[in-house]
Amino acid sequence: NERIVSGGEMDIDNWQYSLRPKKLQEYIGQDKVKDNLSIFIQAALNRNEALDHVLLYGPPGLGKTTLANIIANEMGVNFRVTSGPAIERSGDLAALLTNLTEKDVLFIDEIHRLSHSVEEVLYSAMEDFALDIIIGKGPSARSIRLDIAPFTLIGATTKAGALASPLRDRFGVISRLEYYTPESLVFIIKRSAEILNIPIEDRGALEIARRSRGTPRVANRLLKRVRDFAQIKGDGIITDEIADTALAMLEIDKMGLDHIDRNILLTMINKFGGGPVGLETLAAAVSEETDTIGDVYEPYLLQLGFINRTPRGRVVTKLGYEHLGLTKTE
Ligand code: ADP
Repeated sequence: NERIVSGGEMDIDNWQYSLRPKKLQEYIGQDKVKDNLSIFIQAALNRNEALDHVLLYGPPGLGKTTLANIIANEMGVNFRVTSGPAIERSGDLAALLTNLTEKDVLFIDEIHRLSHSVEEVLYSAMEDFALDIIIGKGPSARSIRLDIAPFTLIGATTKAGALASPLRDRFGVISRLEYYTPESLVFIIKRSAEILNIPIEDRGALEIARRSRGTPRVANRLLKRVRDFAQIKGDGIITDEIADTALAMLEIDKMGLDHIDRNILLTMINKFGGGPVGLETLAAAVSEETDTIGDVYEPYLLQLGFINRTPRGRVVTKLGYEHLGLTKTE
């Protein structure tokens, strides 16, 4: 189920050069999040303390990992990476935590997928910088408290709603990343093109930007595909025409939708009279995972105003019909 416009990571994202910005100033867009963070970082640096725990949420590919990395960089501390599914037992987490040095950043991607027992260990670690460990078994078992270095936990998740509230409440900073505007994506694409030595015209960058679903990871990926096309079919320069032809060949339409998005809209229209239809019913009808529909497709279709969420399910809007060249009859 390879999909060039999915926000999740794929092989094609392994670049020879790093496209990840290292400084807050190089991080394009997300101004509100950046402004807030830069104040908190400055304040923590002035007090010579670890930064408060930060929760970043939003669809995949919007730059959560990148931002976490930048925060560690700006704080001048180590950056340790793990993910919810990778921490199987509470002992795994304890090992990670006891290895941190003061003010380090521990980044947990997909933090909503931590198991309950691991999550419990995290509570005292986040709040008191302490671990409660049980030694021994049966009647002689006792609990000892182990201090750990004050650290910053940065959690990333696609759905803040899936987080247990005791965990969510322990984050001092909660920031939501938004889809990028085409203008911001133009900056990102031109920056990547420069790093990769790809000649690109402004209008070529704009054409790619408009079709990148507001997602930097998708923008970088499309840039790579369009570059191949420009080398073979053109003179190597990415113009708007080259970008348009290449993206049309990849079946990515003017709004960045691919065949799966169109299939979702068409299924809603043809099988469910345009809705309302529940997420699970819809997922089954298009043979996709409910989570994938909820995390990846739906947010972008909502953002475009092609679908709406109602208490009884999702409906295709007038705009959605029009995008497919259809008219909505009430
Ligand atoms: P997430 O963790 O949200 O899935 P990543 O942080 O891995 O997303 O970002 C995906 C890619 O997009 C990164 O490799 C990076 O090159 C690029 N990127 C993300 N945000 C920005 C940004 N604000 N400016 C420039 N490039 C970005």
